[in-house]
Amino acid sequence: MALADKDRIFTNIYGFHSPGLDAARKRGAWDGTKILVDRGPDWIVSEVAASGLRGRGGAGFPTGLKWSFMPKNDPRPSYLVVNADESEPGSCKDREILRHDPHIFIEGCLVASFAMKAHTCYVYVRGEFIREREALQRAIDEAYAAKLIGQNNVHGWDFDIFVHHGAGAYICGEETALLESLEGKKGQPRMKPPFPAGSGLYGCPTTVNNVESIAVTPAILRRGPAWFAGIGKPNNTGTKLFQISGHVAQPCVVEEEMGIPLRELVERHAGGVRGGWDNLLAVIPGGSSMPMIPVDQCQDLTMDFDSLSKLKSGLGTAAIVVMDKTTDPIKAIARIAYFYKHESCGQCTPCREGTGWMWRVLERMVEGRSTRAEIDRLFDVSKQIEGHTICALGDAAAWPVQGLIRNFRPLIEARIDAYTAKAASARHAAE
Ligand code: SF4
Repeated sequence: MALADKDRIFTNIYGFHSPGLDAARKRGAWDGTKILVDRGPDWIVSEVAASGLRGRGGAGFPTGLKWSFMPKNDPRPSYLVVNADESEPGSCKDREILRHDPHIFIEGCLVASFAMKAHTCYVYVRGEFIREREALQRAIDEAYAAKLIGQNNVHGWDFDIFVHHGAGAYICGEETALLESLEGKKGQPRMKPPFPAGSGLYGCPTTVNNVESIAVTPAILRRGPAWFAGIGKPNNTGTKLFQISGHVAQPCVVEEEMGIPLRELVERHAGGVRGGWDNLLAVIPGGSSMPMIPVDQCQDLTMDFDSLSKLKSGLGTAAIVVMDKTTDPIKAIARIAYFYKHESCGQCTPCREGTGWMWRVLERMVEGRSTRAEIDRLFDVSKQIEGHTICALGDAAAWPVQGLIRNFRPLIEARIDAYTAKAASARHAAE
């Protein structure tokens, strides 16, 4: 069953209508926001928790629970920081919100900040998102002019929102690197603990949330947590922006029900796999860091956090990269390994050295210039990177490699065998 139009939260995701305030209001943004604020911060946190909303930035941590970690009665100022860095290859949903539906996002920033008693919100926008930043700033200016935000605004909660433009480093999408960058320092992740709720931006209580997580909160509060929890599956509730790219007829971003079957998503919205479903080789289900799922597991796969983690992969940002049978999966993962090598901030040895090492081995494996024993060594090294670094970039680099070996080991072995046989016959001919 496709998501009913009446349940859509993002009603201008394709930019068919104006992103401006008047048009956004006609679509329902800023409708009764004062009533939501008047119900108090605890009510907002408990409603979001009851909806079952899990963070849309990749980790899927329950949003209401995260908000509840903010200290009560702390004399320091609190901050909401929104992560609009969106740099995971394959991910392209937050940019659509920023440029086409910015007002529901700004309204979300207000109610979420109020729930956490924050008077200030920073939105950290990816360096390459120039038009998105401009669109967001235009909408913020409109909201200020209409007294929806700012000092002495109509909602009775003084609230400022600042847009910060990043400089294009992937690692600044990691929440503590983002905070460092926001403070004007080099974007390198911090050791945790302390977690941002205890000591975040400028050493003050901070919650870092993804754009989509914040943008859906006004709809949850207006329509009730039961409505949101009634969409999708238990523990995987609500609507979700899916991004489908790669070997499909029509790459797209679409809002759908959490838990929608992968096949339905690809065929209904993206025009199907190039050459038909039978031409599918594998998918990356949630951005480049999520391990590949081979075709035999794709048939009945549903797109939600729990189903994908059972397959040792993950929903991540729900950015699906479809690969048909023309794809060389070893080459694809070698390219992804290069990306993580390039983006490693270099602070910790397993990531700094390990990402480059994995990439170099994979480059040889593309040709078959390796040994069967090296496949096990590569897997072993990836396991030594995973979980042994300051931030999750180490995991993000290790998981795709593990997915390749788990699912395509016979292919890697066949290529090594072919290369070895060819080299042996060339040697033989030369003798
Ligand atoms: Fe930097 Fe990599 Fe360590 Fe993260 S895991 S802190 S990116 S070196």
